[in-house]
Amino acid sequence: MSRLARSNRDWHQLLEVCALCETLIGDLDGVYDPRDYNDRLVLGLKGTMSEAELHVLKQRLLAGQQAKARRGELRLRVPMGYVRRPSGEVIKDPDEQAQAVIALIFEQFARHGTLGGVLRSVVRQGIQLPCRVAAGLNKGDLVWRRPNQSTLKNLLHHPMYAGAYVYGRRPTEARRKHPGRPATGRRVATPTEWQVLLKDHYPAYITWAQFERNQRQLEANCNAVQGAIRRGPSLLAGLVRCGHCGLRMAAAYSNNGTGLRYMCHQEKNVYGGPRCQSLVGGPLDKLVGALVLQALEPAALEISLQVAADVEAERRQVHQQWTYRLERAQYAVERAARPYHAVEPENRLVARTLERQWEEALAEAERLQADYARFLAVQPTTLSSAERDAIRRLASDIPALWRAQGTPDAERQAIIRQLVDHVVVTVQGESEQVTVHVHWLGGHRTEATLLRPVARLEQLSYYPQLLARVAALYAQGADRPTIAQTLNREGWRPAKRTTTFSALMVGRLLARQGLRYVPPVQAADLAREAHEWTLQELEQILGIPEETLYAWLCQGRLTARQVTTASHPRWLIWADAGELDRLRTLRNTPRTWKRPAPRQTSMDEF
Ligand SMILES: [Zn+2]
Repeated sequence: MSRLARSNRDWHQLLEVCALCETLIGDLDGVYDPRDYNDRLVLGLKGTMSEAELHVLKQRLLAGQQAKARRGELRLRVPMGYVRRPSGEVIKDPDEQAQAVIALIFEQFARHGTLGGVLRSVVRQGIQLPCRVAAGLNKGDLVWRRPNQSTLKNLLHHPMYAGAYVYGRRPTEARRKHPGRPATGRRVATPTEWQVLLKDHYPAYITWAQFERNQRQLEANCNAVQGAIRRGPSLLAGLVRCGHCGLRMAAAYSNNGTGLRYMCHQEKNVYGGPRCQSLVGGPLDKLVGALVLQALEPAALEISLQVAADVEAERRQVHQQWTYRLERAQYAVERAARPYHAVEPENRLVARTLERQWEEALAEAERLQADYARFLAVQPTTLSSAERDAIRRLASDIPALWRAQGTPDAERQAIIRQLVDHVVVTVQGESEQVTVHVHWLGGHRTEATLLRPVARLEQLSYYPQLLARVAALYAQGADRPTIAQTLNREGWRPAKRTTTFSALMVGRLLARQGLRYVPPVQAADLAREAHEWTLQELEQILGIPEETLYAWLCQGRLTARQVTTASHPRWLIWADAGELDRLRTLRNTPRTWKRPAPRQTSMDEF
């Protein structure tokens, strides 16, 4: 009965069924009829008692386990690189190669900073992971396994390598459990949730500080934080944040991947709000790139030395690995040879098996030797002085490396990510003024101002001053080219990507203010019909730039004819009052960037 009544829910169900089927229930103390009220009362009580008993039993066991864990005496499974002695003491794996491999993985992580980087480098060097067989006939034997991502991930997250005893890393959550499968329902607890943490409990491969650093790095590698290196020419994809709303700005490419813009449209995409801000990417990338190069200059020499030392250390380690493997293979050969020599030659059955094993060991050793020779051939053990100089030159010349045509964008992104945590961008209203805060890794902050190209002159923060200056120069009697030259000399900047004013732009600025300007056009001697205008005249009348009118002309939006004059052919555009109105409306209609639909090619064109 105590076995059946582990859960009162099941127990009462059973009683109900037994009552319906008129079944009697018996135990050591007697026989009960579930239909009888008194018997039923006793049965219910017995069920409650046995459930309570089970609970007390469980609690005592658990309390004992937890008390043991608090003292650090509860035996936890040891990860690779450690073994537990029969006495219960945990030591580093006595196998030197196993120890070296574990240490190598942590060093590789310090160098590459990503799990993928460690995995690739370990695979490239042909390094395998040392595992101790947990159960079975060969329990405790060292086997070498192919490295994989999840094993390396567990290894980097495991606090035992920093010498810490931790209990409660994977607590069970009742909701996640699958019935009948006791190992399910585990989740990963954060370090603050660990029930027991005893530092310096085991022999350590890394320091606790390094362990914490590794955890931070692994966390930062996740997309949600800084993000991985993106494809595409943007240097700052994933690093730019909006100064207005604090959300991350997306890098968007237009014009077949050549035009880059940073846009803050999370508010719009996620909440259906208005679009926040956006700016052309080129100038921002250039600014941050220049700041990064500036930051790198004084450190150039140290970096070069560090790189040289790193490469050499890596070479040495790989070499050490090879020595271990060769030693191991030689040992296997000798061990296989010993029983073969010891066996009596007449005992052919055994001798044959032993001989085959010896031969296999010999073949394995030979294969390793050949691999080693290949390794030596492709990778010299030490860096030659020429190599060292090349590295120094490269490191001291990062600006050249940065600007080199062959440098992929991904590498520039990688350089930036070594230094910059994120960049906060704030566009001042609609204007060309952009405030940029570069937040460097380590907490330092640099502020800079950026001038972005804007679409219209009115967006410029100095538009009123510009108009006033042009009007003043005009009042002094200067002509258009002279005004343009003066503006350029005084450092005024037009709206779009050009950096200087031209006479044409000055003419437009004058026209906006209603300052009359008579273009020096020999328009009078053109033979024209009614309602025909030259492009310059239309510009004056409608206030539409001549370039726009010409573009419309090319697109076939205007009715026009070409006449030949003494100097060059000229266009005459027909426009009566209605047509002039149409053109004004056309000008005021917002532009939409519609791509022409792909044209379908019919078969008979082939
Ligand atoms: Zn925003």
